[in-house]
Amino acid sequence: MLRRFFTLFLSLSLLGGCGSYLPSKVPFVQQKQEDEDVRISREFRREAKKKLKLIHHLEVERYVDQIGQRIISVMGPQPFDYRFFVVENSQMNAFAVPGGSIYVYSGLIERVKTTDELAGVIGHEIIHVKSRHAARISGPDPTSLLVLLGIFLARGGSQAQAAGALGGALAATRQLSYNRQLEQEADTLGVKYMAEAGYDPRGALRFLKIIDQERTLNPVDIPSYLMTHPLTQERIAGVETAIRTLRLERPKLEHPDPIKKVQTILRLERQDSDAVIAENERLLGQYPGSAEPMHLLGVAHHNKGRWSETRENYERTRTLNPKSPGIDRDLGRLYTQIGEFRLAHEAFERSLSFEPREPLNHLFLGELFEKESNLREAVGAYLRAHNLSPLWAEPPHRLGIVYGKMNRLGDAYYYLARSHLLSDEDEKAIADLERALKILDPASPRGQVVKDELEAIKARRR
Ligand SMILES: [Zn+2]
Repeated sequence: MLRRFFTLFLSLSLLGGCGSYLPSKVPFVQQKQEDEDVRISREFRREAKKKLKLIHHLEVERYVDQIGQRIISVMGPQPFDYRFFVVENSQMNAFAVPGGSIYVYSGLIERVKTTDELAGVIGHEIIHVKSRHAARISGPDPTSLLVLLGIFLARGGSQAQAAGALGGALAATRQLSYNRQLEQEADTLGVKYMAEAGYDPRGALRFLKIIDQERTLNPVDIPSYLMTHPLTQERIAGVETAIRTLRLERPKLEHPDPIKKVQTILRLERQDSDAVIAENERLLGQYPGSAEPMHLLGVAHHNKGRWSETRENYERTRTLNPKSPGIDRDLGRLYTQIGEFRLAHEAFERSLSFEPREPLNHLFLGELFEKESNLREAVGAYLRAHNLSPLWAEPPHRLGIVYGKMNRLGDAYYYLARSHLLSDEDEKAIADLERALKILDPASPRGQVVKDELEAIKARRR
């Protein structure tokens, strides 16, 4: 219990830290960095699941993860597994926890104009984790930290209250933030890596300017991002300089920006579909041949289960602009749902030739095979999704279900356990691994893996 309390305390200290930079005051965590940071991250994720409302829409999860992984892929070998989460909250905020858990608020995603701007924020958060900034801020003010701790540990109270209290606590403890030097380091390196990953680094600058504008226009309701990441003119100038030093003839991402679609899904997630439909119908009235409102209208109808409207909107979108973000995947999913299996295969084939390494394409293709009762092919598709995104809990969950249908229960329990493990549900993972162990031959390769994993989880819980 004490240890739990302590690790949580440490994790919360990351939400901020004092303003002054005292390099000599490094927490003892440094001595066993890897273990401790990874543990902090896991503890925090468990608490955050209870206290924050996370968005589990597959397209949204994949969108944010893809940005993060793309940036990480140019950074060389990393000591952590980075995980990205979207919090349903209207505030403009994002924060990182040591050990690689990064949280972005839906309010921030809904306010940016391009994915490049969001990539700027995510790149910046990644650097806070990668460069272990939490360990480099000086000893936190205990009273402010206790306030924060109280919010995360308090039972009861609505999501909005908790979020409001968090914002309030952060406002009351302005000193709980990264200092200027760490902010500048996160800016400079964030801009460098996002550019190398193919994003437009000017997006990072635009984001800082948006948030600076919000502050000027509305000094009462200050974006909460500023509480944990103080913004100064110096920071903006620093990013401008960093961009100038980059060679800008880098390859831009070749894919169309899906930000509008993701923002639409977020609005649909908070039951705003009537407004979304009205808005896009109005746009279509003004610009009848425009693919984007046509596509978004389809997404809204799809969300409501109106198949024929969805089909009409998606098919017309495809005719107007075959490169509208994810249109073939959307069509494939719709055709699967309405039993048009041949058309679904054709749509997924196009989608896969366009984005062969996007795990969602493989996951949805697996759904199609499952609906066709082609379980062997479904396993293949889900395994490909799992291999392309090994930290994503969804593919192993699907694998568990398909293996169950195939009556291969040892494998079914094994993959269900993997899915629980990736969702930080250790107890459920242990229970399923023990079930698998009873069924599998202990001498078989899978039996051996199950035994090893079981021992590893139990050891880590001691
Ligand atoms: Zn920051």
